[in-house]
Amino acid sequence: MKIYILISFFLLASSATETKSQVLSTETFSLTSYIFENNLKSNLLTSIIPLSGKKYTYLLEGRNAGSLQIKGNNIFVKDKFQKKISQQKQIEFSVLIKENNKLISKKSFTLLQNNFNENKVIAHRGAWKNTPAPQNSVASLKAAIALGCAGSETDVHMTEDSALIINHDPVWAGLPVQKSPLSDLQKTKLSNGETLPLLEDFLKTIQQQHSTKLILEIKPSEKGREWANATVKKVLEKVHEMHAQAWMVYISFDYEILKEILKREPSAIVQYLNGDKTPEQLKQDVIKGADYHYSVFQKHADWIKSAKENNIALNAWTVNEEKDMNWFLQNDFDFITTNEPELLFEKIGK
Ligand code: MG
Repeated sequence: MKIYILISFFLLASSATETKSQVLSTETFSLTSYIFENNLKSNLLTSIIPLSGKKYTYLLEGRNAGSLQIKGNNIFVKDKFQKKISQQKQIEFSVLIKENNKLISKKSFTLLQNNFNENKVIAHRGAWKNTPAPQNSVASLKAAIALGCAGSETDVHMTEDSALIINHDPVWAGLPVQKSPLSDLQKTKLSNGETLPLLEDFLKTIQQQHSTKLILEIKPSEKGREWANATVKKVLEKVHEMHAQAWMVYISFDYEILKEILKREPSAIVQYLNGDKTPEQLKQDVIKGADYHYSVFQKHADWIKSAKENNIALNAWTVNEEKDMNWFLQNDFDFITTNEPELLFEKIGK
């Protein structure tokens, strides 16, 4: 009996230590890429980036681990599986992370084959103007996906009790969004009867398909830098938890929010909204796109050329008139953000 109790105690203690050590690791791990092409040009699929830059050892497990191998931080496709892997729609694996031979964490990732729509159409707050869906509803996101948009734009705030909700204005139903608890905000439904959606609802919806990306605007905070940084942390944690990185493009009017995103997820695609930085400045700060009000580009036409030279994606908002659409199509913009995605599709001949 005594021996039994002793063994039970040791088993309990060792499993407690293991759980505790996993919880204790607050290190963030991200990848250099979450998307792969269907004709893999090299065996190198992606690499692991620990936020702290510390050295760890990694082991792979999970669904596709048998077709992959890891050397240092780099994940390769094994030669004999190259064809099979590059034909898959998605690749899933987990990484066991060890420090000084002790397991400190386990992270799971999903990589997507690049099958995203290549048209230029970004539905601003989803497709709502010519559909029954209200803007920024799950229904408007689904409508944008059904139209075949390259991306559907939406806005996120963090509530007083740290929930991530989808809403454009800083106020919902008379309540300040960032200073109210979720339960109060969700008392008022959207006009189609939907509950005010969470970021999680949007991620679940976007992950049901592989064609449309989510263009997520992180709203600046009237509660200061700390709140804005906490919002970024929470958003990225949710995206990581749901393995949704491949679907994401982040945009913000707040330059510091974009820098904070890149600090935590160096390979994230981020675009700046405020229109007061040259493409050269964006390139210097690894911001991958200029997503400016359309009048900014009409005023600084030279930025179009320099953006192309500097590999900065060009996106303009909110382009609703046919004559403006023509201007941006003629200037070969990568994306055009619009309340009229149907009209833009007509123009590009889809
Ligand atoms: Mg927005």
